[in-house]
Amino acid sequence: MTEHTEHFDAIVIGGGAAGLSAALMLGRSRRRTLVVDSGLPRNRFAAHMHGVLGHEGIDPAELIRKGREELAAYDVGIRPGRVARLDETEDGVSVLLEDGERLNGRVAIVATGVTDELPDIPGLAERWGATVLHCPYCHGWEVRDQRIGVLTTSPLGMHHAHLIRQWSDDVVVFTAGLGPLEEADEQRLLSRGITLVTSPVTEVLGEGDQVTAVRTKDGLTTEVGAIFTAGTLRPHDDFLTHLGLDRADSPVGSFLAVDATGKTSSDRIWAVGNVSNPMANVPISMSAGTMAGSVVNMTLVTDDFDRAAAGPAAVDFWQERYAGSDRIWSGKVNTVLGDIAAGLEPGTALDLGSGEGADVIWLAQQGWRATGIDISENAATRGREAARAAGLNEDQARFVVSDLSSPADLDGSYDLVTASFFHSPVELPRTDILRRAADLVSLGGHLLVTSHAAAPPWADAAAHEHRFLDAKEELAELGLPEESWETVVLEHRNRPVTSPSGEEATLEDSVVLLRRR
Ligand SMILES: Cc1cc2nc3c(=O)[nH]c(=O)nc-3n(C[C@H](O)[C@H](O)[C@H](O)COP(=O)(O)OP(=O)(O)OC[C@H]3O[C@@H](n4cnc5c(N)ncnc54)[C@H](O)[C@@H]3O)c2cc1C
Repeated sequence: MTEHTEHFDAIVIGGGAAGLSAALMLGRSRRRTLVVDSGLPRNRFAAHMHGVLGHEGIDPAELIRKGREELAAYDVGIRPGRVARLDETEDGVSVLLEDGERLNGRVAIVATGVTDELPDIPGLAERWGATVLHCPYCHGWEVRDQRIGVLTTSPLGMHHAHLIRQWSDDVVVFTAGLGPLEEADEQRLLSRGITLVTSPVTEVLGEGDQVTAVRTKDGLTTEVGAIFTAGTLRPHDDFLTHLGLDRADSPVGSFLAVDATGKTSSDRIWAVGNVSNPMANVPISMSAGTMAGSVVNMTLVTDDFDRAAAGPAAVDFWQERYAGSDRIWSGKVNTVLGDIAAGLEPGTALDLGSGEGADVIWLAQQGWRATGIDISENAATRGREAARAAGLNEDQARFVVSDLSSPADLDGSYDLVTASFFHSPVELPRTDILRRAADLVSLGGHLLVTSHAAAPPWADAAAHEHRFLDAKEELAELGLPEESWETVVLEHRNRPVTSPSGEEATLEDSVVLLRRR
């Protein structure tokens, strides 16, 4: 488990032909890119790769090795691991690895490929990629003119039966997988000298990885030198099904729907190679990755210009808010923080959105070494002045100014990270910031998020653009892995207040306190 969340321009999930090609374009575009790869490319069963111009007959592992070596020249990292979950955030994507590490990026390219689920026939799977084959364009030439068996597994096997005849005039089709054959279809196969065996295949016989014959249910064996068959294709996309991205049905199953650049129905997620295109071989996967890599770069270029042109709206808003001379907040510690921190052993604390610094000052007075972080220089100045007035030094109460968009500004390790009413009427990537801040909590430390569960009773709730989350929704939004985080408090607390018009009212706070295991 790493202590810090890392931030990338692009996270490429899957480091096969498609993923590495996308990463190459991004690296060469000076994009900080990470490839997360579990290292099991689909063609790993084959010793030789064909149909890839310039690489004819090489070991497929060699292409991956070379690709990785080439990427080392750029700002591209390759991390072994499996992605367990991909989420969209306010300003990009968040990727959770199986080992609990979380990574954030502006964009994700999914290039995780497929698994070929083979029929459960003894002797078949162990020869996959050697003499049990799926694609004649990849391996047909190598077994040309031999006696080739076509083991059909579905009506789609008829396509294979026709195709393979191009590579040999001695083809045996095991037809049980096709279902009942129409007379015309049977005659069509027979017309080109194809032998038909109707009894279901029960075993594939051979020596080492060489197929020699096929045994059928009727007890007969048929000699063959190679077998072509199609497994069921299972795209590796479980980690994003909860996003409900558009899918497209194909004759071989349902796959992520993408446009010509590989973009899915999410503006932040591309899917390339076999995971979205069951027909793709290595060169097609490489070209899809190349296309997505360059389009993703252009998307980020556009974002960069949009942001620059729009100006720092959130900074301006909060600077303005703290610009006057009047104190905005009460100067007292937030009630929930006061209650909860009183029960914790003082250590180091980080307060997100520290405003005028009351929480930081209170924590420092209880013996914590407290840091406040706020987007507004005016707020931080007020915090520093109030801390000095309370007799606290910089080691006890420190204030940092940051819009929290840069990972460098959200660094360190804290026993307590707290965010009280961390809402902004001007857009800030709140969840993303909270998740990154969670990574700064030391093992055994706490994350406390206190928020408005509902609009104040005197306010027009419909006029609020802010989405008020109840405690459970807040927890779900944080999306922190249960194996790493224990939920200590998950509740609502009512707080008596005086409304702006002087009436007594009650505010409902949602409280989420988590302990890092
Ligand atoms: C036996 C066999 C032989 C083949 N021979 C040829 C050939 O000769 N020529 C040819 O052009 N094509 C061949 N192919 C097809 C070729 O394998 C595919 O077209 C190609 O591998 C697709 O590339 P890809 O990048 O989409 O997926 P892959 O190459 O399968 O790469 C996907 C990568 O993503 C990783 N991954 C999966 N899930 C996750 C996750 N959750 N988190 C992180 N990483 C993940 C995998 O471990 C893998 O490293 C062959 C296929 C088979 C089955």
